[in-house]
Amino acid sequence: MTADEKSRAALFLDLASDYLLDGYRRPRARVVFEDSAAPLSPAGTAALTGEGGPETRRKADGQVRTGPDAGTGENGDSRTPAPPDDNADTLEKVAEEVRRCDMCRLCETRTRGVPGEGAASPLALVVGEAPGADEDASGRPFVGKAGQLLDRMLASIGLSRQKNCFIANVVKCRPPGNRDPMPDEIVFCGRFLRRQIELLKPKAILCAGRISAQTMLRTSTGIGKLRGRFAPYRAEGDLDGFAPDNPDGAIPLLPTYHPSALLRDEGYKRPAWEDLKALRAKLAELDADYARETAGQ
Ligand code: SF4
Repeated sequence: MTADEKSRAALFLDLASDYLLDGYRRPRARVVFEDSAAPLSPAGTAALTGEGGPETRRKADGQVRTGPDAGTGENGDSRTPAPPDDNADTLEKVAEEVRRCDMCRLCETRTRGVPGEGAASPLALVVGEAPGADEDASGRPFVGKAGQLLDRMLASIGLSRQKNCFIANVVKCRPPGNRDPMPDEIVFCGRFLRRQIELLKPKAILCAGRISAQTMLRTSTGIGKLRGRFAPYRAEGDLDGFAPDNPDGAIPLLPTYHPSALLRDEGYKRPAWEDLKALRAKLAELDADYARETAGQ
């Protein structure tokens, strides 16, 4: 088995065990495999998860890439720019891998994978649950009625996918009948979202809906309690797929209702608007240009 196959098998066994014992995913240490060696020692795992030292990741093909310290030259001089890296990850690579991905059962029923779209250096990343029928047909996120409402909501606080916002989902392929994504689907697909967050480096994350918020915050608390309050999104390395290469940094993450919930029940509109205002205030704290552009709104 390759390292990736071993990793996926281990994850699947973890998930099956959690489901049978508790019905919910429990935090646990991640076991890291290499193609030509036994699982890494705890020290090696710590290096991969960023605990206890500079991050160094060893890929299955044996290559080594560094995390936030990537700008440090081989001689350790942080002023030495790193040479161009042809193997560097990009949003285009992620999107291409999503489109041909067959890591979980959703590939069998999707029409198109939906990687996400928007600004490459966004102020905000919006994370929804999964594509619906319109998104599955078009390959683009949030393009149905809920998506059009989301665009209007974002525009009301000076955000758009054309300018300063990126929109993606926790799961990149449509679950049949719009059912909730299953835990193993979320874990497998989470690798793509993790890479997108690493590349995008958004100043804030808006989680639209229960599945998105619970996944990103690793909790089973309901969206009614989670919404409207910022929580730090940071690396902890205990859930494969959701550990950005920035263990010290935290991205402010705000859960809110999914736009489709607002279409079903008008009563959600007022709290959702309160959440948007909170996001606007947070972004204004973090970005002077945005603060100027939205002053007086
Ligand atoms: S949902 Fe994600 S993991 Fe599953 S096939 Fe689609 S892209 Fe791959």
